[in-house]
Amino acid sequence: MTLRWEAAGATDVGRVRTGNEDALVVDRDRGVFLVADGMGGHAAGEVASALAVEAVGGALARGVDDGLGCEGLAEAMRDAFLHAAEAIDRHAAAEPDTRGMGTTLTACALHPDGVLCVGHIGDSRAYRLRGGVLEQLTHDHTLVQREVDAGRLSPEAARVHPLSHVITRALGAGPPYDPEPRSLRVEPGDLLLLATDGLTGMVDDDRLARLLASPEPPDRVVRALIDAANAAGGVDNVTAIVVRVLG
Ligand code: MG
Repeated sequence: MTLRWEAAGATDVGRVRTGNEDALVVDRDRGVFLVADGMGGHAAGEVASALAVEAVGGALARGVDDGLGCEGLAEAMRDAFLHAAEAIDRHAAAEPDTRGMGTTLTACALHPDGVLCVGHIGDSRAYRLRGGVLEQLTHDHTLVQREVDAGRLSPEAARVHPLSHVITRALGAGPPYDPEPRSLRVEPGDLLLLATDGLTGMVDDDRLARLLASPEPPDRVVRALIDAANAAGGVDNVTAIVVRVLG
């Protein structure tokens, strides 16, 4: 089976923030997609997210060009996340203004043979919509997710919790974490969504599923997702990538 896909992504500052600390890569030809949500004062978050998508996007692109399979790409992803964290920490050490900066990072590599490799650190998410059912492929590294896992908080309450933005793992500004790459099958008709919390914190999963199910081209779907986040308040930067898997 050789899959093709169409894809689009965009980022938006939202309605409250003055700067945009999110970053993304849409390498449609290679099937490499990344979203990152940086943090740190004085525009440092912007630097961290940009460094991360550049380092990991570049490594995955090389892996695809070298013809790596799923296991090879997973290994490349692990190495690239480590190198990205080191690059962020080196930059922060050299520029005191950026000390403490870090970022989330969610990375996907989609192989034409129908395997998707997904790795992440933080709370930027990947989803797959299949047959109207939206499945979250990533598990948030957040305080509230821990409470959900322990059965002390409902997922819906977690989404609007005042501490919902507090992440327990970041790339940079702390110990190195494994992105724990996993692989899963994708099929024609599947839709993939990568998004930062500026989208998923504003728009619930039911609404995401309905918006994703639209037959419009991916760039229009991305626009509709961002518009929905902004209509709901747009309190954070909003980033979304939509991939539609074709036969
Ligand atoms: Mg955010």
